[in-house]
Amino acid sequence: MTRIRLTSREGIATARRVVVKVGSSSISGDNAGQIEPLVDALSAAHARGTEVILVSSGAIATGMPYLQLDARPNDLATQQAAAAVGQNVLIFRYQDSLRRYGIVAGQVLLTAGDLENPTHRSNAQRAMDRLLGLRILPIVNENDTVATHEIRFGDNDRLAALVSQLVGADALVLLSDVDALYTRPPLEPGAVKITDVPLGDDLAGVTFGDIGAAGVGTGGAGTKVSAARLAAASGTAVLITSTANVSAALSGESIGTWFEPADVSSPPTGSMSAVRP
Ligand code: GLU
Repeated sequence: MTRIRLTSREGIATARRVVVKVGSSSISGDNAGQIEPLVDALSAAHARGTEVILVSSGAIATGMPYLQLDARPNDLATQQAAAAVGQNVLIFRYQDSLRRYGIVAGQVLLTAGDLENPTHRSNAQRAMDRLLGLRILPIVNENDTVATHEIRFGDNDRLAALVSQLVGADALVLLSDVDALYTRPPLEPGAVKITDVPLGDDLAGVTFGDIGAAGVGTGGAGTKVSAARLAAASGTAVLITSTANVSAALSGESIGTWFEPADVSSPPTGSMSAVRP
């Protein structure tokens, strides 16, 4: 299938294939209840005929209470143990919520190495295409138990951009705690909302933080901008907004920060080498 180049936010409402990325702090701990409205919005898009792929972090954060951990562990082995425990709880919660709409979830766990290895990559691509063809909603996360510090995606913003390339998504919606990008951390005086990022705009003079405020994930505005640029360069339009705005985002409303996609005649689904950050 050929990717549609979206020229404005409204196009998201009728997009053929959309990737939505949600971070740990939005759907774990006290915010686990946000899974339901998130699933409501994904299901509404699914019902309109859009093929929806969810990239969800939150395995480590969801697993923490089961390991009696009050804070995110620092060592990789305990992070992996927490992720192994938390991932299935997380998928259960999503599936339980999706059941209200009769939608089946498919768990897809990937590593950076998988997306660089041509055989693994094409296997993953074929599996995703089949899942979508079967109207199943793929839920993607990093395969934390086999990823090492050196090759971890860490935050899943970059994974979401690479999955967008893999499936040739028309749009990528990156969700966080903040409604849009700002010219400086949003609580600082003088911070101005950035509504549109034209292709090639290097956002000079803009200061982005790198760590999520909740401390349970690893992403921040900086990783979102890098991921947005990566996806936009390969023809996927990107919208950055808050998890609370997901329904409005998928309905094409005028919210968030929009990254104009490049005009690429053929989607780079076979190789990612030209668009690595
Ligand atoms: N794959 C990780 C998780 O689901 C991503 C979060 C992180 O390491 O920051 O917990």
